[in-house]
Amino acid sequence: MDPRALGEFGLIEAIHRRAGRAPEWKIAIGDDAAVLIPRRGEELVFTTDAVVEDVHFRWRTSDPRSVGHKALAVNLSDVNAMGARPVGFLLTLGLPPRISGARLDGFFAGLLALGRASHCPLVGGDITRGRDFVATVTAIGAVPRGRALLRSAARAGDRVFVTGALGGAAAGLRSSAAPALVRRQIAPRPPLGAGPALVAQRLSRCAIDVSDGLAQDLGHVLGESGVGARIDLDAVPVVRGATLEEALGGGEDYELLFTAPRSAPSAAVLGKRLGCRVSEIGVITRQRRLLLERSGHPVRVSTRGFQHFKASPKGSEK
Ligand code: ADP
Ligand code: MG
Repeated sequence: MDPRALGEFGLIEAIHRRAGRAPEWKIAIGDDAAVLIPRRGEELVFTTDAVVEDVHFRWRTSDPRSVGHKALAVNLSDVNAMGARPVGFLLTLGLPPRISGARLDGFFAGLLALGRASHCPLVGGDITRGRDFVATVTAIGAVPRGRALLRSAARAGDRVFVTGALGGAAAGLRSSAAPALVRRQIAPRPPLGAGPALVAQRLSRCAIDVSDGLAQDLGHVLGESGVGARIDLDAVPVVRGATLEEALGGGEDYELLFTAPRSAPSAAVLGKRLGCRVSEIGVITRQRRLLLERSGHPVRVSTRGFQHFKASPKGSEK
């Protein structure tokens, strides 16, 4: 897919061919806009995230397939965290004219492979010339009416759970990182399906994806819900080879943090029902502060998560 050989319209044609069919859509790629036929009793959720060359990734260290995978994965993570199933996505590309056809082919291979695996078709987009490569994905999801998982829905007494293990993506940024950790950084695998399963089985009303570090993302839930939490650091699942600090403050793990009422099943049972590892890490409290404990004693650890435009303690970028 060489943009200089194909031109804009040739490129759109090639994308259209590779994107395949979109069954839930009345019209996908090819008209002025895409048309979705909504299902009765569902609400739609919309989310967008961009990946920018030399800000979120470098071609030197990320293979093109991973860049495409990650561009969609970070969006599907947000759809999942709302408890929604993905129904389709739009793609806006900013392309440097000198980009190679092979690079673009790899990007689409990773992007569309995840789209197919997630039943989330590419249904439209835009292409423009640009200085650096930018891929902006807008994903659309659907959730049963009134049942979306909200940051504002945590209540005192709820238990706090997290899927998978944390810190791997941050550890993957270290220059000496093992290949398995680097993979977590460049090709994250959010627990897709866990969000809709929480909704379908009425297990939770509150979730967030852990994209900026456990402490910061839990902080968003606490702030929006007007509550606090007590977290047992010994229970926080840390990826082998990562540190607790990376689990608490590192970003881009894309695991799911959720709360469930006292009466909810154990983490082991939840894990079976969601189809992924689940750990219980603490409890929501009335006092509006985040308490970190170890063997029942309060501890202080560095928990600064990532923010664009803010000097980072790690000096890392993403
Ligand atoms: P318009 O001039 O109406 O904006 P475009 O020429 O930009 O139309 O796009 C034509 C069709 O191709 C539209 O259906 C649009 O959604 C689709 N399209 C354009 N770029 C992309 C892309 N990067 N990925 C998927 N579909 C695209
Ligand atoms: Mg256009």
